[in-house]
This record gives sequence, structure tokens and C-alpha cells, in this order.
Amino acid sequence: MKNNLKPNQRKSAYMQITRKCNNDCIFCSNPAFDKEIDIHELEKRLHFYKNKKINEIVFSGGEPTESLILIEAIVLAKKLGFKPKIITNGVNLSDLNYVKKLKKAGLEHLHISIHSHIDNDSDFLTQKKGHLKKTLKGFVNCLEEGLVVNVNTTINSVNVKYLSHFINYLIKKFPQINHYVFNNLDIGESDKNLRSKAGDNTKIIAKFTEMELELSKTVKLLKSNGKTFRIERVPLCYMDEFEQFSTETRKIIKEESYRCIFIEKGREDIYMELHDPRKERRHKAEICKICNLNCICAGVCMEYSELFGDSELFPVFKNPKEIILRVKGGFNEKN
Ligand code: SF4
Repeated sequence: MKNNLKPNQRKSAYMQITRKCNNDCIFCSNPAFDKEIDIHELEKRLHFYKNKKINEIVFSGGEPTESLILIEAIVLAKKLGFKPKIITNGVNLSDLNYVKKLKKAGLEHLHISIHSHIDNDSDFLTQKKGHLKKTLKGFVNCLEEGLVVNVNTTINSVNVKYLSHFINYLIKKFPQINHYVFNNLDIGESDKNLRSKAGDNTKIIAKFTEMELELSKTVKLLKSNGKTFRIERVPLCYMDEFEQFSTETRKIIKEESYRCIFIEKGREDIYMELHDPRKERRHKAEICKICNLNCICAGVCMEYSELFGDSELFPVFKNPKEIILRVKGGFNEKN
């Protein structure tokens, strides 16, 4: 793995700081339980990342704003030279004073997860009544405080029916937001231990054929509004003309790694470093052997293939070099 960073090159890593959560999303890939780290352990873990030449740290969970040490964690990360970020459901950011404290601690950039703009659907997806209003207030507070906010959303069987309307709603409501991240559901064990709730609630999984049209409409909408975006866990045969926005394809081409320290249930916490998304809980079908994009596609999640088979996949006969060039050329880089 390359360790020599160009000036301003990001080398990021995730750190779970609590597994508590104030939502109970029915597809959660890191289900909640009552365990968190204290500030001394956090400091040790930051030094561990420092030694690995990480320069951007993403505090996650669980819900990181449920941790009493988040403010201290941000201060410490800044002091050690990291750019701190958080991934949050935004519910606790409905408290403007708390947002001001995060900003004062040194937070400049965060990802807020939101999965629908419709109250009933949001209540169902997060299993918490009324949290959508709080999350939306969280967006307002962060943007008013001048923080850079990215949107994270899952693609699921509920929002897939109106994904482009949902994103259009966010574009209109929050024109300051420039970057969107779409995560198709992780069905298996992200830490190779605890199963995603989507694996128990399989009706919440959207099939590729169900998302194809709405995903394409959403991409056109984002492009026409000058937004950048990434799409994870969707094979390239369902990303025609926007393959360069595949999170995994970019990682394969740029040889980027994923790093996370997981808080573990009933065993010691673990550090995971993954170098090639094609090798991690992924599956390729027989048909992939004749697909020109095989070399830059991560395929599908193993668990997806076990549930639905491979009949949705089809080979693509494009030249992968065009996609490699689009990725390497820095086309539509995110901020
Ligand atoms: S056929 Fe297989 S290798 Fe080709 S794009 Fe689809 S999943 Fe990827």
C-alpha cells in the first residue's frame, strides 16, 4: 500500500466511538448495543491512525452524537492534525447549541444520513416517530452555522420508488449541499461478526431491477444541478454512463483502502483494513467472466446473490479504459 501522500491528498479512516443509537433503522448494518469507548481509549486509537499516516478521521457509530466524548474527540483529533468528520443521523443536531459546540470544537464537515422525506416512511425506516423533523432541523442548523454538509442515504425498497423525488426535495430545500452518497444496503456482517438488520428484514432490500430507472433519473438530476455523488454496492451493469461514480470502482482504480475500528459485541474491538473491494464478501456470476468491466467492478454482495440469485446481472461490452480515464482524470471529484 502507498504511504507517501501528495500535498492535500486525503487518507481517511473510520472510528466507531459508540454503538448506542437514538434511531433503530430496520436495515442498520452496524446494529446498536450498549458499548462505547472512553477518551483514553479514543486517544490511543487516534495515535494508532496517526502512525498509519491517516489525515482524516470519521467518527461514526452507532450514533456518534450519542457519545458524551464526541466534542472532546473532535478537539483531540484536531490537535493531533486530523481533519475530523462525523456520520450522523442528524437527530441531535436539531439542538442549535450542540451544533455550535461541535463547530467550536473544530468540526467543519459532516455527513447526515436521511432515508426519506416522507414522515410515515421515515418513521418506518428509522423505527422512530417524528425523527425526520429533527433530522431536517439538524441540516438547517449545520448549514446556518456554515458547516459543509454531505447527504448519506440508503437505497431501500421503500425510497427506491421515489428516489429522484426525494433527492429533488433535498436539492431544493438545501441548495448549499453539493455532495450525495448513496449506499445500497449492506446485508451481511460489515465487521465479519454481527449481521446487518437488513439480513433479517429482507423485504427492505431493493432489487437492482427495481432501482434501475429511479437511479438513472436521480443521477441525471444530480448532474443537471451540478452536484457530485457516489454510489456504493450497485454493480456496474446497473450504472450505465455513470460507472465512474461507483465507490468500489474508484477504490479499485485508485487503489484506495477502507479502514475502520469497530466496537464489537461480546469480543475485543477490531481494526479492519480492506484493500480490494472485489475480495470482500462479494460475488461474481458466471456471466461476469465475459463482461468487459469485470476488472473494475466489485460485483454484488454475497448475501444479495444468495437471496436473489444472479439472473439480474448482464455483461457490459464497453471499454473499461474509458471509465478508468474518467476516474483518474478527476472528473467530478467531490470536495
Ligand atoms: S456482469 Fe458482473 S462484472 Fe459485469 S458489470 Fe455486472 S456484476 Fe459487474
